[in-house]
This record gives sequence, structure tokens and C-alpha cells, in this order.
Amino acid sequence: MPMRVYLDWNATTPLRAEARSAMLRAYELIGNPSSIHAEGREARRLVEDARATLATSVGALPRNVVFTSSGTEANALALSPGLRGPSGRPVERLLVSAIEHASVLAGGRFPADKIGQIRVTRSGVIDLDHVKALLSDGPPALVSIMAANNETGALQPVAEAAGIVHGAGGLLHVDAVQALGKIPFEIKTMGADLATFSAHKIGGPKGIGALVVAEGVAGLEPVLRGGGQELNRRAGTENVAGIAGFGAAVRVAVQALTEDAERMATLRDHLENGIRAVAGAMVFSDDVKRLPNTVLFTAPGFKAETAVIGFDLEGVAVSSGSACSSGKVQPSHVLSAMGYDPTVAQGAVRLSLGWSTEPDDINRALEAWRKLGNTLLKG
Ligand code: PLP
Repeated sequence: MPMRVYLDWNATTPLRAEARSAMLRAYELIGNPSSIHAEGREARRLVEDARATLATSVGALPRNVVFTSSGTEANALALSPGLRGPSGRPVERLLVSAIEHASVLAGGRFPADKIGQIRVTRSGVIDLDHVKALLSDGPPALVSIMAANNETGALQPVAEAAGIVHGAGGLLHVDAVQALGKIPFEIKTMGADLATFSAHKIGGPKGIGALVVAEGVAGLEPVLRGGGQELNRRAGTENVAGIAGFGAAVRVAVQALTEDAERMATLRDHLENGIRAVAGAMVFSDDVKRLPNTVLFTAPGFKAETAVIGFDLEGVAVSSGSACSSGKVQPSHVLSAMGYDPTVAQGAVRLSLGWSTEPDDINRALEAWRKLGNTLLKG
């Protein structure tokens, strides 16, 4: 039987060998990192090494890294009324872009009547004029935008948004879950006051994430209260093995970024050209800068659900727009926000590549697409 082809890297990635080794070493340790004996100190060292690695990789100070159970939890932690920047005035409302991950759209601890939504263009890029307009009217806001969209791959104008947000006395949170390891991301260059990361998108284990806070940002309200772990910002005994795996994955992902991104972009372009060769196929957000690994496409009369199953039967793992915990395909809120009709949004299929994707994987995916595209479109 031919090997499976995995093209769903934006949903999750395989564990890197370096992360696996770091985790296995961590599992051998007995200690609780909060214990002061030698066993505890040994576990603490793994946690602090990973913290330093992540901090260096994204241009932050280790003390400003808070490990969480996921990107989802880091987003929930970030969206905290009472956050204060250099002005000392707490944010009183939240503005999120319409294409954010569900964990940001949920709004964290902000009440529903204090949450506003930022429009995006037809290409899936946030509308900076709308950000300006929303900020010009009302108290200081926390603005949350993603660095790169998980469905379309469209890169967002984070640094420009930061200038606007700071000019209006607000703070900027950036969900960088899909950006880490695919494009350069440093919190200072981007102007982020808070940034979210998740290990399983970069070859680390599932179930570990981090919120990184810029120096001088105060007032973060913990979601989980109890012990004083993570400098009182996230209670609960640290997931030592998960954190060690995260640290190892970040180190490799950031070191290999330039080479991996170039390789993926070349393969992605080949894939995209082949997709377009089937009549009527179109790629979303192809007129703006995108992640080097992502293609979201559709074709007239196309049904994502049928296509995902069709690809799967051909041995190729792909996804409909957004990965969905129920396994059911929902119309994509991202494509709806971009102004596409729900029938178009229901036909969107995402192929996302990773560091070990080979030219042969792309050829197999294209073979499957030609077969499927021709039958589905005829049928
Ligand atoms: N933010 C974005 C942009 C994502 O793509 C994801 C995962 O799909 C998350 C946040 C959530 O991360 P996690 O799966 O670690 O909860």
C-alpha cells in the first residue's frame, strides 16, 4: 500500500525527533519544578531552559513567558480586561478581527457588549482604516489580530496595526500560532504587547502553549488561580515534558526557518499551479502575502466534505477550511468575513505543507486532485 501523504500541517504537525528526545528525558525526572530539593531543581532547569529558548526566539525576556496548556488557553489569558500599558490606563474594551481563531472570537474575560469586530478585505486582510475608526471613538482598547490566518495563510499587517493601536493608547495582542516557524516573528519588530504560541504547530507536543508579554505590560488577570506558578499568572504544576518538547521544537523550527520556508514555498507554488489547471479552480487570498505553506482553494460546485473524504480515500490528508473538533464541516467564518457566499465557503479545501513535505507528496496530491476535480466537477 502506498504511504499516506499528510498535507494538514496547519491543523497539527508531527512531533520532531528533537522534541521527542527532550520529552523522553523529561519523563525520566521525578521532581516537581516547584520543589526545592535536587529532583525539583532538575525539573525546574528543563522548564527554565525551554522558557529561555522561546524568549530568545521571539525577542522577549524569559520572565515574560507564561506557559499554558494550549494556544487556546494563552489566547484566553491574553484577553484580560485590566491590562495596562505604559500610560497606566487599563483597557476597557476589546477589538478582534473577524477572521480570528475561535478562541479569540470568544473574547476571553471581556463582556459581550465590550467586544467589537474589525472588518477584513475580500483578500482576507484586516482593514486598517476600520481599526482606526473603531479606535477613534471610545476608551482604550485591547486589539487582537493574528499574524497569519490558519485557513487562507494570509499575513496580517501587524506592525502597521501596532502603530495605530499604540497611537490611540491601546494594547495589541497577536495570535502568532500559525506564524511561528513559518515567517520571522519577534514581538518587538511586530509591536506586539502580548503574543500567543502553540507547540504542536511547530513540531512540539499537543497540549502546550505560551503567552509572551512585552516588558512594561501589566495587569494580566490569571484564568487559573491557585499555586503561584508562572509568577502567579498561571496556576498548576507545569507540564515539564510538554514544555521541554516545546523548547526543543522552537529551537529547531526557528533555526531551520529560512530553509524550510523556501522549500515549502517552491512546493506550494507547484501545488497551486496544478490545482488551478483543473477548470474553474480558484485559490483564496492569492493576491496578498501568505504563509509559504498554505493553499485554500475551491472550484464551482465543489463540496469540501466530499472532497476531504475523496482525498482521504486517495491517501492524502487535507482539511476543509478550518479543522473542526466535531469532525463536521462548518461553513468557514473566515471566508464569510471575506464576503464569500456560504456556498463558496462550504467548498473550500485547505492543503498545508510542512518541513518534511517532499515533491512526491505534492505529485500524489495533484494526482488525487485531478481525479477528484474532474469527477466532482462533472457530477
Ligand atoms: N490560534 C490559531 C491561529 C490556531 O490556528 C490555533 C489552532 O488551530 C489556535 C490558536 C489554538 O491553538 P491550540 O490548538 O494549541 O489550542
